[in-house]
Amino acid sequence: MSDVYAQPTTGTEPATTTELARYTTLRLGGPAGRVVAGTDADEIVRAVRDAAGRDEQILILAGGSNVVIGDAGFPGTVVLVRSRGLRVVAEDADTVTVRVEAGEPWDDLVATTVANGWSGLECLSGIPGSTGATPIQNVGAYGQEVAETITGVHVHDRVGNANRWIAAADCGFAYRSSVFKHADRRIVLSVDFRLARSPLSGPVRYAELARALGVRVGDRVPLADARATVLRLRAGKGMVLDAADPDTRSVGSFFTNPVLDTAAYELLRARAADIGEPPGWPGAGDVVKVSAAWLIDKAGFGKGHPGPQGVAISSKHTLALTNRSGTASTAALVELAREIRDGVHRRFGVTLHPEPVLVNCAI
Ligand SMILES: Cc1cc2nc3c(=O)[nH]c(=O)nc-3n(C[C@H](O)[C@H](O)[C@H](O)COP(=O)(O)OP(=O)(O)OC[C@H]3O[C@@H](n4cnc5c(N)ncnc54)[C@H](O)[C@@H]3O)c2cc1C
Repeated sequence: MSDVYAQPTTGTEPATTTELARYTTLRLGGPAGRVVAGTDADEIVRAVRDAAGRDEQILILAGGSNVVIGDAGFPGTVVLVRSRGLRVVAEDADTVTVRVEAGEPWDDLVATTVANGWSGLECLSGIPGSTGATPIQNVGAYGQEVAETITGVHVHDRVGNANRWIAAADCGFAYRSSVFKHADRRIVLSVDFRLARSPLSGPVRYAELARALGVRVGDRVPLADARATVLRLRAGKGMVLDAADPDTRSVGSFFTNPVLDTAAYELLRARAADIGEPPGWPGAGDVVKVSAAWLIDKAGFGKGHPGPQGVAISSKHTLALTNRSGTASTAALVELAREIRDGVHRRFGVTLHPEPVLVNCAI
């Protein structure tokens, strides 16, 4: 098993403890019925089939960086995705297609692509978790998302009990979403990415990143510069896991940026007229994506805002809810999330939705 994912730490515990808090970056979550680890695709499929044969519920867990698990835990079998490996499966003069096993730590993959001069993932540096989880919510940051480079996904489909290839066009990729999110039908076994052979990044699309690199939006920069700058920006916001920094005991952004149609955006502008223009980015089809961090802050929930039992908004980023004390419960985190969601709705009439997957809990 990998040592980069959260693992039991004391010598007195079994190698695979059932306390799920040990496997989540929030360090929250009660016991599972059973926990098994799959170190290659066959083992993962066997574990899933075995649990299905016993009629047990199944939870797939990899880095545990995008789940909030209830205090009562999970009554069924938790399958830890711990497969490793990467190989080039196609190449031509301009591109390389790599097939990556689901359990491969995401940031190790990004580092490898940057070192090899393969362009397309560099702005996604520093995101915790596994490669197999990136299609689940179409992971994105700093102007890049995996939907741009994934060509397809190998899955085990529990309907039909067979392994299948799903082309990117059929993955339903959208903003922090895909056909895989909130559905336990398919287990991702490996992911194919087509990357450009280039020492330069894709065009820098994110204004904050361009500023930090000292370039204009649309410029390209050396891959290693893009990676180093993204890592620096992320670390400043508590968005790179660091055991010594309680602000990183989180799931990253707790809420997605709300996507409003034009009428809803105009209503928001009217309600915010006394404090300024809500930051928003136009999307396809007359919609505006609004900054959830701005809404939360302006509704009175600033950085460091405390909740019960030592949970709090991160002191570095308004969108991250943290188990700051390290001893809180999921109930406390959920209470803070509800307070924020309801406060934003009261002030602006906009409903925030959680980004992580909630397991046996709800806000
Ligand atoms: C500090 C921090 C910063 C973050 N920054 C970002 C960011 O910038 N952008 C972003 O998009 N996300 C971000 N995240 C969220 C998270 O890191 C990503 O969503 C990541 O891809 C989750 O990977 P994981 O392996 O930890 O998934 P897990 O948390 O283990 O699982 C998440 C969900 O995916 C399912 N799942 C996992 N693996 C598989 C598989 N192989 N097959 C089927 N289902 C599977 C699980 O059942 C669960 O529903 C951040 C999180 C943290 C803690």
